[in-house]
Amino acid sequence: MRRPYKREDIGQSIAGAPSFEPLIQSDNGSYIGTATLDGAQRLYSFRRIGKYPLIIVVGLAIQDIYAQWTQRAWAIGGVVTVLDVLIIWMSVMFARLFRKRLEMENRLHLLATADSLTGVGNRRVLSSTLETEWKRASRDGRNLSVLMLDADNFKALNDRHGHAIGDEALKAIAQCITKNIRRPGDFVGRYGGEEFSVLLTSTDMNGAIRIAENIRAAVMATELTSMGARPVPLSVSIGVATFDGKNARAESSEQLLRQADRRLYQAKAAGRNTIMPRQAHGQAAMVGDPHPST
Ligand code: GH3
Ligand code: MG
Ligand code: MG
Repeated sequence: MRRPYKREDIGQSIAGAPSFEPLIQSDNGSYIGTATLDGAQRLYSFRRIGKYPLIIVVGLAIQDIYAQWTQRAWAIGGVVTVLDVLIIWMSVMFARLFRKRLEMENRLHLLATADSLTGVGNRRVLSSTLETEWKRASRDGRNLSVLMLDADNFKALNDRHGHAIGDEALKAIAQCITKNIRRPGDFVGRYGGEEFSVLLTSTDMNGAIRIAENIRAAVMATELTSMGARPVPLSVSIGVATFDGKNARAESSEQLLRQADRRLYQAKAAGRNTIMPRQAHGQAAMVGDPHPST
């Protein structure tokens, strides 16, 4: 007999089929085999009834056994896939937002610290950097040099060639300075108008004058032409002051700046396109020197 009942199966012989073989080898057991009648993979469990030539066999299709599991696996797989896609999408969005925020922060930082025309440090950062470097030099007993730099006859340049060329000239001067200060810790800031300040860490007066000379020469060599292709003469005067961290007396960073400024005006008085002091000699570079020799 067969359940579910299928008329055409009744009376068919399955003797000799591979799935029949295990049924007569023991009284009970289970195995997986291919059904003779419908060719499906089935899990067979069988038991012989007493001493009779009767065997009860239950053959569940493997497909039916796994049906629920497969359905659940698909459902869980679907949910996991949707969650994964969501997480990937959120990560991409987060990364994009994060990048945008970083760009904004960099732009804000630049706005807050850089001079918009020349790109060098602005006055505020110049002051704080000078203060920090001055304290560091005092603590470590090291030199700190300051250059005060002013464009010569800049009012006349503006009047003759226009403010746009004046702006180009300021950019060119800033470039000449940045090209000549390469050491980490060195800093250039726009003090205001056509004036720049340069901080040179661990640099003595001789070194500072050498760098000032390089900047002066670079500005002189700058070829700036106005609309009429007339060459624009460009030069700077520079005042140099050095703080000697080893022999420091009661000074401040402002005093250092003031001394560089005084020397800048001496350079102007000496005919412009000049550096003051022209040469370092002994203690002349000391800040706080009541009678600076230059
Ligand atoms: P000196 O050689 O004695 O320094 O003469 P100077 O003409 O350079 O000095 P003064 O202080 O009389 O003039 C400075 C000029 O710099 C006046 C001002 O219009 C100009 N200036 C300041 N800032 C800027 C700027 O951002 N762009 C332009 N184009 N000109 C500026
Ligand atoms: Mg000036
Ligand atoms: Mg000037």
